Amino acid sequence: MDIVMAASECAPIAKVGGLADVVHGLSGELMAQDHRVEIILPKYDCMHYDRIDDLSTEMEDLWVPWCDGAVHCSVMAGRVDGRRCLFLDSHSDDAYFNRGGFYGYRDEPYRWAFFCKAVLQYLLDSGRRPDVLHAHDWQCALLPVLLYEIYAGAGLKDLRVCLTVHNFMHQGSADGEILRATGLHRPDHFYDQERMGDQMNRSWLNFLKGGIVYSNFTVTVSPRHAWEVRHTDQGFGLGHLLHIHQGRFGGILNGIEYDAWNPATDPHLAANYDRDSLDGKYANKAALRERFLLRDGFKPIIAYVGRLDSQKGIHLIRHALAHGLAHGAQFVLLGSSPDPDINARFWDLKRQVNDNEDCHLELTFDEPLARLIYAGADMIVVPSVFEPCGLTQMIALRYGTAPVVRSVGGLADTVVDWDYSDRPQEERNGFVFHSSDTQGLESALNRAIGLWNHFPKGFRWMIENGMARDLSWRQPARHYADIYDYIRVKSPPDGGTAP
Ligand code: ADP
Repeated sequence: MDIVMAASECAPIAKVGGLADVVHGLSGELMAQDHRVEIILPKYDCMHYDRIDDLSTEMEDLWVPWCDGAVHCSVMAGRVDGRRCLFLDSHSDDAYFNRGGFYGYRDEPYRWAFFCKAVLQYLLDSGRRPDVLHAHDWQCALLPVLLYEIYAGAGLKDLRVCLTVHNFMHQGSADGEILRATGLHRPDHFYDQERMGDQMNRSWLNFLKGGIVYSNFTVTVSPRHAWEVRHTDQGFGLGHLLHIHQGRFGGILNGIEYDAWNPATDPHLAANYDRDSLDGKYANKAALRERFLLRDGFKPIIAYVGRLDSQKGIHLIRHALAHGLAHGAQFVLLGSSPDPDINARFWDLKRQVNDNEDCHLELTFDEPLARLIYAGADMIVVPSVFEPCGLTQMIALRYGTAPVVRSVGGLADTVVDWDYSDRPQEERNGFVFHSSDTQGLESALNRAIGLWNHFPKGFRWMIENGMARDLSWRQPARHYADIYDYIRVKSPPDGGTAP
């Protein structure tokens, strides 16, 4: 099959979070399974150009209709780890993608609406006719809307769209002016609640809502989260819409790239190891202690790696630190936040524990260090308020580190409780708690620390179970290919629902 992916991120050239890893990992596995894949991204000025091979001009002049005229763009092509990528460059005065950063600008909806328009205009003008366009998140959610309303009639009528939603909290919205800019016009049509009218604010148009209504299939990144967004407040107002469209909505668990995340070959570790040579983990624990000046001793290391964001359960991360230290464990944290208030709070905490030889906080983004932590820690805590999929617990499982997680989203789909699951013992790989108060977390941490201290053989058995679980992209990519195939053969251009 011939697939074009459109996204705002792709590792390692443009990475802010898990989305970048998904685009890179899924595209690589689809190619390994003999599909043709191209990735279209904006040509950001802040990309890691050193990781792009053979960058050259693909199309010199692309004119993208915008507002009352057209914007001059060009398209570059290059290879990122063997994947063919196209980079859309706009030469408008707005400099949409030449701002030194990936996100966070005042005109964000306009930047991404423009990107969507440029992607479709490029496909139309270049004669490229893929089977499926795979759009990611709200930034690319206008693709199916523009396709059905404008570009299908102009020559892209056979194109089908799969939309993956990585985070329902971010939906993208704009006022009616966006309709003029994109050429969609007809405010009465688009403000309709069945199309793009925002469910909370009647003067907004909601991009993600439009994406769900107009795409042929919408996926979120774990089966549990697909249930949560329909039945709990985690749909952030879109639960009812998803319920209406449930026949073409589902959850596919993300994978991790097994070549890139492999303790047997990871060059950033003090010692490589695998399931059959687990003792190699000790050298990494020692290296981690040395790096953070933690004292040596018979204590488990609990770690947190991730964004410091309200989604991640900040109060519980802090509580895990205090509780772990009070119960004979060491604690290391690697995290960063774009929010100055949250950052300041963690810098305060860092100062408070500065002289504690059992604790270290590293407030930065550092992937090699993250790898050493995954390898050197005994447990990793992920107490998220909501977690569509979560990669940290999957990486931890691969590195033989026991996850202690809240039972939400992808965490619930990947971590099987050692004590209380009804699944066979050989599938149990961590500790799960349910409530978002401190008691649930404390009880799960106590069980983890207790097993480590009093039944080390059991603890080792548990992490071996985690390492044995296949969390690679092999299976998820097959599921995506099934969906592409299904929408290509079965689905009308509007997903069967666009009015
Ligand atoms: P999200 O996408 O919500 O941020 P995920 O768990 O899906 O969370 O993905 C987070 C990814 O980013 C993981 O690969 C994790 O190792 C990495 N990561 C997060 N914070 C840091 C950090 N401070 N330093 C290094 N890697 C980080």
